Amino acid sequence: MLGLYLHIPFCSSICNYCNFNRGLYDDALKTRYVDALRTEILRESQGSAADTIFFGGGTPSLLEPRDVASLIEACRATFAMPGDVETTLETNPETVDRAKLDAFRAAGVNRLSFGVQSFQDAELQRLGRIHSADRARRVVREARAAGFENVSLDLMMWLPEQRVADWLANLDALIEADPDHASLYLLELYPNAPLRDEMARAQWSQAPDEDAAEMYVRGLERLDAAGYEQYEISNVARAGRASRHNLKYWTDGEWLGFGCGAHSTRAGVRWKNVAATGDYVDRINARAGVVVDRRALTREERLEEALFTGLRLNAGVDIDRVGARYGCDVWGRFGDGLQPFVDEGLLVREGPRLRLTRGGMLLANEVMSVFV
Ligand code: SF4
Repeated sequence: MLGLYLHIPFCSSICNYCNFNRGLYDDALKTRYVDALRTEILRESQGSAADTIFFGGGTPSLLEPRDVASLIEACRATFAMPGDVETTLETNPETVDRAKLDAFRAAGVNRLSFGVQSFQDAELQRLGRIHSADRARRVVREARAAGFENVSLDLMMWLPEQRVADWLANLDALIEADPDHASLYLLELYPNAPLRDEMARAQWSQAPDEDAAEMYVRGLERLDAAGYEQYEISNVARAGRASRHNLKYWTDGEWLGFGCGAHSTRAGVRWKNVAATGDYVDRINARAGVVVDRRALTREERLEEALFTGLRLNAGVDIDRVGARYGCDVWGRFGDGLQPFVDEGLLVREGPRLRLTRGGMLLANEVMSVFV
């Protein structure tokens, strides 16, 4: 079944490391945008089956619950959806309170993904985040009280001035908060990120590379011990709580993205919507197309992508199945490049499955480069 991604490009303030498609919240523009998004969904041809809705951003929790309800309703009017649709809302802890969480639940959201990033105020301030560690702790309790049984937290690793002990303290706080799912991201500093200048001015440093590797491995060991199962390079979950939506990206699935800058992949074709929010709204209102880039992937590209995204999963990738789908003897073709990683213990071949070990996950890009 399809996954549906709805992009909400508004934030209350802009974090100094952020490279996403987003801008400052503007109430009038938000209203026009939600109308446009609804129109884009409703003009999609009817009847395809979809089982996930993911509100990503930006900060989707800046929407009013009635906006979210109307967008979910548009999805239901357009797609055939089963009863147990996974409906995720990315949420900034500072943008919600108990009443708003209740209203999101009533609107049909059943999974919250909180951008916590850190449980230490000094780290949050260095990132320009607007919430405090205390707020992050409280918001998870409020989500539970509002009836959310599927809560995810994002944490960022390798932050300025963060050392291994700080990172592990963040993980202890996460485990205490007891979410159902967690995503652990490495801070990536893009070339013009304002955080780079701030780091230079304040003389903040990042821990050495080997410490980043230690953070990753020791952090995951701590989560293993707390009963979380790692299912993807950056994601862990309690049993049955892996993100159904994100799994579509890693299992050669199909998804439709709505909103400015959203990407879609379906039947071997990939396309992207215009990125600027105002431009997107104007085009929808003029009944014009919003797609700015569309191309059919070659069979070769689909094969490569199925292999390297599948390898992100702990379960690995079934190379016989992928090979059958794309008409290729995968081991015959890539085996020479992969065997050295198997010999080094970074990659395991078990029957038709190929999977990275945890050590291999640290060097995933190197292993995956065999496929491209
Ligand atoms: S809240 Fe998220 S999307 Fe918005 S500026 Fe910060 S990192 Fe970027």
